[in-house]
Amino acid sequence: MNAMTEQAQPIALVAPAARRTRQARVAWGARVVTVGGDAPVRVQSMTNTDTVDAAGTARQVKALALAGSELVRITVNTPEAAAQVAPIRERLDRMGCDVPLVGDFHYNGHRLLTDYPDCAQALSKYRINPGNVGKGAKHDTQFAQMIEAALKWDKPVRIGVNWGSLDQELLTALMDENARRATPWDARQVMYEALVRSAIGSAEQAVALGMNPAQVILSCKVSGVQDLIAVYRELARRCDYPLHLGLTEAGMGTKGTVASAAALSILLQEGIGDTIRVSLTPQPGEARTQEVVVASEILQALGLRAFVPSVTACPGCGRTTSTVFQELAKTIDDHLRAQMPVWRLKYPGVETLRVAVMGCIVNGPGESKHADIGISLPGTGEMPAAPVYIDGEKAVTLRGEHIAQEFHALVERYIEQRFGAASRP
Ligand code: SF4
Repeated sequence: MNAMTEQAQPIALVAPAARRTRQARVAWGARVVTVGGDAPVRVQSMTNTDTVDAAGTARQVKALALAGSELVRITVNTPEAAAQVAPIRERLDRMGCDVPLVGDFHYNGHRLLTDYPDCAQALSKYRINPGNVGKGAKHDTQFAQMIEAALKWDKPVRIGVNWGSLDQELLTALMDENARRATPWDARQVMYEALVRSAIGSAEQAVALGMNPAQVILSCKVSGVQDLIAVYRELARRCDYPLHLGLTEAGMGTKGTVASAAALSILLQEGIGDTIRVSLTPQPGEARTQEVVVASEILQALGLRAFVPSVTACPGCGRTTSTVFQELAKTIDDHLRAQMPVWRLKYPGVETLRVAVMGCIVNGPGESKHADIGISLPGTGEMPAAPVYIDGEKAVTLRGEHIAQEFHALVERYIEQRFGAASRP
């Protein structure tokens, strides 16, 4: 049958499925970050400074917050670290940074939260790893002590299960249960079950101790993409607690970025995940803020949120052998990102701006017309002219040595005209 004679049907629009979790509130002072329900998917990060170094930790927390992290977790592993949490909070407040701090506790959280009330108060959320709160009879007692601290200081908790520190007693019990099955499950399926049961069982325990279920966030982190998808699908099916999503130990550079994007995108598209973290191992010399950049880009690429103006650039090919357009795309991208801490306040809505920087006439004008402002640079052998398109119309053609600077100026003018007005009375 000729395609033209077929009954034309509109191709279905695709959008991420709606999330259906409860909504938690993580607050510091007047700053309230809602997590779950219809709140935007939140970006989280974690410091890698020694918490005892209050000045260094506060500096890194502020850098992560400026990069777009809406919650920042810090390690609270020793009495010395716990003693510095309130001073870190005070430093941040003095620096005008009200990002909520999350305390990451393992092994001794029950003691630290009891012995250091200033720490318990200065944190906005406690992360509890049920695999690391004590063994045997101590487990329930120490878990209860942490929940009591959360109740006393009115803080939400994240029950953060990790397959690297899974509750071994639970895992052993499930393996025994599995051995009695007529058709035993695969060992991996037993591990999935242990992760999910540990998280939901601990959440139920917290609720039984008095926690508001809406103030309990869950996570079940693993380092394999398919494992993460399997575990979170089941977690989402079995409960409606807000879910924190992330691959644990995602890895370095491209590997960690791609693995995180692959896993998180599939789940977020299915409506699973209320906060995310990309656990990148920084490459030598790389800023810690890179994990925030990657997390934000994942959400922005899925159309879930907008954080920074997006720059569409072609990959280049044999039609453009100069690096001019690569350099222009990079400088524009770097500039827009660097300006965001100021522009977020000065130009509300600027994060939705779309800029195109293209390498030749083949797709350059078309892609530039789809953007808010775009430039089509001349490819090899083309006339040395670069048409600029604004709101889909050709506005000007740039020529000569200073095309990059002139395009920068045009982008700035466009931003001022379109988004500056919104902030003026
Ligand atoms: S726009 Fe031109 S230079 Fe860029 S990838 Fe396409 S054909 Fe190559």
